[in-house]
Amino acid sequence: MKAKEFLLTGLLTASMSFGLVACSQTPGTAASTNNAESTAKQEDFYITEITDDIFARIKGKSFKDDCTLPREDLRYLHVLHKDIDGKTHEGEMIVNKHIAEDVLDILQELYKNDYPIEKIRLIDEYDADDQKSMEDNNSSCFNFRFISHTTRISNHGLGLAVDINTLYNPYTKVVEGKRIIEPITGEPYLDREASFDYKIEKGDLCYNLFIEHGFEWGGEWTDRKDYQHFAIPVSKIAEWYPNNVE
Ligand SMILES: [Zn+2]
Repeated sequence: MKAKEFLLTGLLTASMSFGLVACSQTPGTAASTNNAESTAKQEDFYITEITDDIFARIKGKSFKDDCTLPREDLRYLHVLHKDIDGKTHEGEMIVNKHIAEDVLDILQELYKNDYPIEKIRLIDEYDADDQKSMEDNNSSCFNFRFISHTTRISNHGLGLAVDINTLYNPYTKVVEGKRIIEPITGEPYLDREASFDYKIEKGDLCYNLFIEHGFEWGGEWTDRKDYQHFAIPVSKIAEWYPNNVE
């Protein structure tokens, strides 16, 4: 996102996230202080509503034509993240408004602590195709869809589940004796005893932060494993979306 767009769209919500800095200083004056960290936070990690420009990027893709989740329930996050070589990249993620502050905090902590995340791009850059996004090891959140054969919205459809380093942390389930793996190219990484880059493990910083913020990890499920997946528990979703419960 360009600086101009940030000034137009980001300041109101930035003041929510970074109230102290945003209320007392404009971005220009903050840069002249010695508090470099505050400056980085304010300009690189921020939340905005889904502006018309952002909506144009997701409409008909992750925000599908049959999307029943109001656009007003979503937020855009701009973040930084580091890859395995320590190189900094800009990231973009769309999440539910109820978890926007939490996810921003988590991604900011991961960045500050050099926790490697390879890509955080809007899934719309992959035509909202989960498989393509996962094969590219992209981390993402919102992608509207109903749970199969129901009118209930899935966790990702609500923007209430976040997938991290998806290629190296695949989903797997055995259905009628047949093992399903998503993405299929993630098969080598089903061996969770092996050591490899971008692997999420119980007790690592990524796991700990999501758990602290009230998420559950798909790597701890018993009927299936979803090592990339951190989601808000059903009980909490029922509070926010009572009509979306079975
Ligand atoms: Zn997921």
